[in-house]
Amino acid sequence: MNKESIYGLTFDQLAAWLMEYGHKKSRASQVWDWLYRKRVMHFSEMLDVNQECLQLLADHFALQSLTEHLRQESADGTIKFLFKLNDDNLIETVLMRHKFGLAVCVTTQVGCNIGCSFCASGLLTKKRDLSSGEIVEQIMKVQLHLDAAKQAQSVSRVVVMGIGEPFDNYKNLVDTIMIIKNHKGLAIAEKRITVSTSGLADKIYEFTDNNLQVNLAISLHAPTNELRTQIMKINRAFPIEKVMQAVDYYLEKTNRRITLEYILLKDLNDRKEHALQLAALIGDKRPLTNVNLIPYNQVDEHNQYQRSEHESMRAFYDTLKKQGINCSIRVEHGADIGAACGQLRSKQIKVLNYEGQESFSVIDPCEVHKG
Ligand code: SAH
Ligand code: SF4
Repeated sequence: MNKESIYGLTFDQLAAWLMEYGHKKSRASQVWDWLYRKRVMHFSEMLDVNQECLQLLADHFALQSLTEHLRQESADGTIKFLFKLNDDNLIETVLMRHKFGLAVCVTTQVGCNIGCSFCASGLLTKKRDLSSGEIVEQIMKVQLHLDAAKQAQSVSRVVVMGIGEPFDNYKNLVDTIMIIKNHKGLAIAEKRITVSTSGLADKIYEFTDNNLQVNLAISLHAPTNELRTQIMKINRAFPIEKVMQAVDYYLEKTNRRITLEYILLKDLNDRKEHALQLAALIGDKRPLTNVNLIPYNQVDEHNQYQRSEHESMRAFYDTLKKQGINCSIRVEHGADIGAACGQLRSKQIKVLNYEGQESFSVIDPCEVHKG
């Protein structure tokens, strides 16, 4: 039986746990300092924590539940990590370097049950949810990599946009946010944490009520139900009007803005009429809405979709702008290493299946790149 990762405990959970065993609450602050500031790899390195407490921690918790399986570095400095979990499942984590700091994109599930028809992650149905410890540890592993490379920079942004639907692993997502934003730990500012969902409307309400004060992005990808259902079958359960009602609730209650993500797919959802429909859908939410246009990363298995032409993307953007919509075209990170979530993992799994053995050399990063 694998031990639970210590990174999965919120500060209050760890403090309560330690107190149950007769330790003072301040012990939790000490332990968190070693975990998140001094960033040790073994409990025994927590020098000012007494032996009895160290033993207790080591008996009950794991400090490392992910191992690096593969790492790919892009010319632009993006690094994609493929981590192996204790049960040998593989997940992806991506480090992106922005002008304004380092961002990590984390995975929340092994596979995804939402099954969007353009996405590499949805090719493999969900095997299991990640624990909060496994999600937080992805960020820690990236930070430890930076530490080891003597890059005196800290991860300052987290985007929950890796493999999986975060709202389908809700409790662990919320715990993760509580852990990473805590000032005693990684102290990632709330406004620098973004969760992306395929639009599970009921969970958008819950998320709003939880008042976590982090950013929310909704994968809309189409302005009409007919088109959205064709691209994302989840639209049958949560059609656009239900999603937009939930967005209204979020905007009303949180005082925050919302991001609508929109992948541009050639000749499918990238025409002027679609941009006009999208603007109409946003309506009077304009001041509180950002549209993020995403260049599609080609996935081998979904060859019915192609990336929009550069001119179409530009025209779509211009139409939205003329309609008074705040929008941007997503900057691509690590296109040469296939950094769209799920791509490296699905490649790896294919290789493992075809070859029947572990081998990484057959993966040519250029082969993944189709952009
Ligand atoms: N499940 C959540 C979060 C993970 S996907 C969601 O769907 O929002 C994060 C974002 O990457 C989503 O907007 C998703 O639509 C997008 N995405 C998935 N596959 C992609 C691809 N091949 N190219 C570009 N974006 C992709
Ligand atoms: Fe799942 Fe998001 Fe991929 Fe859809 S786009 S299959 S919700 S990971």
